[in-house]
Amino acid sequence: MAGNRTFSMIKPHAVADNHVGGILKLIEEGGFRIVALKKLHLTGAQAGKFYEVHSERPFYGELCEMMSEGPIIAFILEKENAVADFRKLIGATDPAEAEAGTVRSIYAKSKAENAVHGSDSDENAALESAFFFSALERF
Ligand code: ATP
Ligand code: MG
Repeated sequence: MAGNRTFSMIKPHAVADNHVGGILKLIEEGGFRIVALKKLHLTGAQAGKFYEVHSERPFYGELCEMMSEGPIIAFILEKENAVADFRKLIGATDPAEAEAGTVRSIYAKSKAENAVHGSDSDENAALESAFFFSALERF
């Protein structure tokens, strides 16, 4: 059964360019409720740990550098079928392939600087949420 929570981050380039409000507006208008939210600056090592599943991929170094170059916004979202519906709302990894109106079609700058992260499974949503938030920080 599909779970009702997912985890997301607004990536450093989009935070630096003042797109936090615009992105959260699309997310709330998409029917998602914010369960937890914080702003923080990951170290390279923390970004490396978060993206450990990609450690063998050729873009891993670039990804860790990009995710630690400035503060991010991390948040947990709630909606029925959250993981799949959120990936639909943000669009394809490569903005050139993202459907019009999706978050990435509007705010991504490249395949690497693609504005937001979205969990790819219920299991990873739970793991990624626990990476950033305690039970006391969720409402
Ligand atoms: P995310 O996990 O951030 O939601 P995704 O699931 O759409 O994105 P993944 O394949 O999990 O895509 O890749 C993780 C992140 O790594 C991407 O969001 C992007 O920032 C970066 N990335 C993926 N492919 C490339 C690539 N070919 N070149 C550079 N960066 C890439
Ligand atoms: Mg992914």
